[in-house]
Amino acid sequence: MKDIQVNLLPEEIPTKWYNILPDLAKYLEPLPPPKGDKQLKNLPNVMIHECLNQEFSDKTWIEIPEELLEVYLRVLRPRPLVRLVGLERKLQTPAEIWAKTEDLSPTGSHKVNTAIAQAYYAKKQGIKCLVTETGAGQWGTALSLAASLFDLKCKVYWVRAVHNWKPGRKNLMKMFGSEVYASPSDKTEVGRKLLKESPDHPGSLAIAISEGLEDASKDKDTAYSLGSVLNHVLLHQTIIGLETQKQFEKIGKYPTIMIGCFGGGSNFGGFTLPFFGEVIRGERKIKFIAAQTESTPNLQGEYKYNFADHAEVTPMLKMYTLGHDIQPPPIYGDGLRYHGGAPIMSLLRKHGLIDTIAYPIDEEYVFSAAQIILRTDGRLVAPETSYAARCAIDEAIRCREEGRKEIIAVNFSGHGFMDMPGYDKVLGLSRK
Ligand SMILES: *Cc1c(COP(=O)(O)O)cnc(C)c1O
Repeated sequence: MKDIQVNLLPEEIPTKWYNILPDLAKYLEPLPPPKGDKQLKNLPNVMIHECLNQEFSDKTWIEIPEELLEVYLRVLRPRPLVRLVGLERKLQTPAEIWAKTEDLSPTGSHKVNTAIAQAYYAKKQGIKCLVTETGAGQWGTALSLAASLFDLKCKVYWVRAVHNWKPGRKNLMKMFGSEVYASPSDKTEVGRKLLKESPDHPGSLAIAISEGLEDASKDKDTAYSLGSVLNHVLLHQTIIGLETQKQFEKIGKYPTIMIGCFGGGSNFGGFTLPFFGEVIRGERKIKFIAAQTESTPNLQGEYKYNFADHAEVTPMLKMYTLGHDIQPPPIYGDGLRYHGGAPIMSLLRKHGLIDTIAYPIDEEYVFSAAQIILRTDGRLVAPETSYAARCAIDEAIRCREEGRKEIIAVNFSGHGFMDMPGYDKVLGLSRK
C-alpha cells in the first residue's frame, strides 16, 4: 500500500529553501550585463527588498520564516506525491509514474508558493500595494490570494488575449479584492501607445510586465511582484522539490526521469533544483526534461543577455531567449508563452543538463494527454501542465518499447478547473 501515495506530516515540512547559486559557482559566467545600468538602479524602488537580497544570495540554505511556514501549512503544504497507477496500467509500461500535486493549491497552481513569500516580505517592509502582470491568470490569482492573506492591495495587468476568455478567473481575482486590467491598458504610457497603434492588441507577458513596472514606479508604497524567471522565485519554489526528495526517501526510491512544463521555469525549477544539486555534486544521475510549446520554445532560442519585458525597463538577464519583442502565437496553455527561460535554468541547459521538447501550437496532442490522465487517474491538470503530462506519457511508452524500469516524476503544476473553455475549443467537447 505504501507505494501509492506518499505524504509528509505537517512537522516534516522543509524549513529552509535551497539556493542553488553557490553550487552553480563553477558554472557561472562573469557579470555584469552589457546594458541595463539605468534599469538596475531603479530596482530597489520597485522590488521587495528581501526578494532582491535573495536574488543574489550566496547562502545555500535560506530559512523560511516561522510565520510563513504557518501559511504554507494553511494552504495545504506538504502536498502528496501520488502514483498514477491507472496511467501505468493503461500504457502497460514497466515504468513507475509519480505526480507531485501542486494542483491541490487553493487557487490551482504552484505559484502560491512564491506569492505568499513575496506578500509576507512586502508586508514586513511596510508596502501597501502589490502590482503584477499575469498571462494565464494563475499568477494573478495566486498573488491576489497572498495579498488578501496579508491585507495588501493588489493590481493585476492581464494579457488581453487570455483575460477575455477566462471571466471566471477574473471574478475570482476580484472576489479576493484585486483590481484587474486587460493589458495593454489605458492605465500606462506603454499601454496607451500600443492601443493607439492597434486597439485590439492581444497583449503579451512582456508588455504586461512593462505596464506593471511603470505603474509600480509611480508610488513608493507599491512594489512589483514577479511570478517566475527570477532567482528568488525559483528559490521559493524549491519547497516543491525538497518535499518530493523527502517523499522518495521515505519509500526508498529515487526518480530517474524528472519532467515539468516550462514557461519561465519556476515550477520546473522548483521541482528539480534540489535534485540538480545532487546531480551537480556527482551524487546522482537524472534525466531532466522541460516540456514546452512551439509558440515559445525559449530553451531552444539563443543564449544571451536580453530584457525580461517589452519596453526594456528591466535589467538584462543572461538566458535562453527568443527576443523580448516577439509576438508569439496565442495558445490556451498561455502560462508557457514567454520569450525567455529563467537564468538559472538557462545556465543548466547551457551545460547540457536539461533536455527539452516543444509541442505543436494546435495543442490537440497535449490536451489529449490531459484527457487520458483525467480518465485513468481522475485528475484534471491545467492546460500548461498537460505539456508535462504528454511528455511523461511519451517517456513511459518509450520505457515499454525499450523494456526500461524507470521511475518517472512529473510535476502537476496546476489544475484545469477554471480553464475548461480551452479544453472545449481544442477537444471539441461541446460538439460531441
Ligand atoms: C504559470 C504556470 C506555468 C508556467 O510557468 P513556470 O514559471 O514555467 O512554471 C506552468 N503551470 C502552471 C499551472 C502555471 O500556473
